[in-house]
Amino acid sequence: MSGNDAAMTAKIEVWWDMNDCPIPREGYDARRVRPSIERAFKELGYTGAVSITGYGDQKQTPCHVLRGLSSTGVTVAHTNSESTRSVMYRDMVEWRGQNPPPATIMIISDQVEGDLSWDLARLQQRTRYHLFLAYSMKPCSDLFLVRKANWQWEQLLSKPSLLLLVEEEGRGLSLSAASMFYCKSCDFNCKSLKKYRKHLSSYKHGLKEAVDPPDTRLLCITKNWARNYPATPEHATAKIVVLWNMKDCPIPEGYDARRVRPSIERALKELGYSGPVSITAYANHNETPVHHLQALSSTGVDFAHVLPWVEYSSMYSDLEAWKVGNPGPASFMIISDQVSGNDESLLYCTALQRSNYNCFLAYSVRPFEMPVLLTSAEWLWDSLLAVSETRGGHTLQKCSGSEMVVASAGMFCCKLCYCDCKSLDAFNKHLSSYNHTKEEHRMLSHMQSQPRRHMLYKISKYHDRML
Ligand SMILES: [Zn+2]
Ligand SMILES: [Zn+2]
Repeated sequence: MSGNDAAMTAKIEVWWDMNDCPIPREGYDARRVRPSIERAFKELGYTGAVSITGYGDQKQTPCHVLRGLSSTGVTVAHTNSESTRSVMYRDMVEWRGQNPPPATIMIISDQVEGDLSWDLARLQQRTRYHLFLAYSMKPCSDLFLVRKANWQWEQLLSKPSLLLLVEEEGRGLSLSAASMFYCKSCDFNCKSLKKYRKHLSSYKHGLKEAVDPPDTRLLCITKNWARNYPATPEHATAKIVVLWNMKDCPIPEGYDARRVRPSIERALKELGYSGPVSITAYANHNETPVHHLQALSSTGVDFAHVLPWVEYSSMYSDLEAWKVGNPGPASFMIISDQVSGNDESLLYCTALQRSNYNCFLAYSVRPFEMPVLLTSAEWLWDSLLAVSETRGGHTLQKCSGSEMVVASAGMFCCKLCYCDCKSLDAFNKHLSSYNHTKEEHRMLSHMQSQPRRHMLYKISKYHDRML
């Protein structure tokens, strides 16, 4: 029923680097590879049909191994050793284009970490497959890539095999249809092992590999993706929650704060997003001018009072809470300068890999490098705010007109005392109250007595998630 359940019975596609993760030399029967992989999946409840392609320099692979693999329906693909990784990845990207989810993918390789995991994590944020990894020597330790398991290859193979059973099934399997031999260097394929061996030792093949070998560089395809995408139908009318760090992205001098909400809404609408937008402004609101508070709250912007060193973690933990009540499709927008690097975007990008969310970003400074977080749209804060200005007074009218009536007056929350106020007056009163001031002092002194990073997470209540 849910996407999750569908994935448990959907097909499973396996890309296996036979150079990195070879079949153990000592008497291991190649026919055990498939049942071992199938068994590992079944133990986790994945029952879909498994397709396996083994990549590597097949001139080096003994004949009995090739025969063993093909007799169990494992496809064999030849590449030269240096290109194995890039060819495998290219094939995976192509497969994704032709096989929309639900499906499960597995990569057996020691070289996932780095540019491959970066690009794959970005792909997974747009199109979500259940992802499994296996490694022989070097596990992928990149935290931003969400996977269901990271198996050790030899352990996976060494589990008691159901070989006999599979042999029985194997006879029923139409092997001629199931197993193929490919040469990725020549774009050649055949179904006969004899013909395949002949091809690999042919002059034509040798020449092709010498003159025009497959590219060894990994092509990160998401690098060329556009920054702003029009909304897909399922996201077009879905909810949008906006978390706005007012310190990073302040209201410019002389700017009418009532225009912030219509500017954000207008920018989103231009891309086809017309779902209800809720906005929360994070800052030390003791320092926010009263006329800004008034103007923003009149347009239904909520406030969260936070101390400077917890604003980011507070924004993130609020997003975590929002996710519970808002499963995808839905969108969140982060207005902040702290999401540009890979470390900072880690939490958001894993959220996108798990659920059907879109992420929008606005910042006052464009990031130096492309983060692993895959956004559906990005704006410079100043140009986003200028959106309503360039369209003349029209938007402001709208702002006090019918569109805005539905929005409730802003909510005011003090993140220090966990105190919700219903009105701006009550909020201002709270921020200058004895109890609040005492709490702020208490936190300040506590903070100074603790290592900074430690406190950051402690206060924000997600200490066990971040590190
Ligand atoms: Zn060839
Ligand atoms: Zn307070």
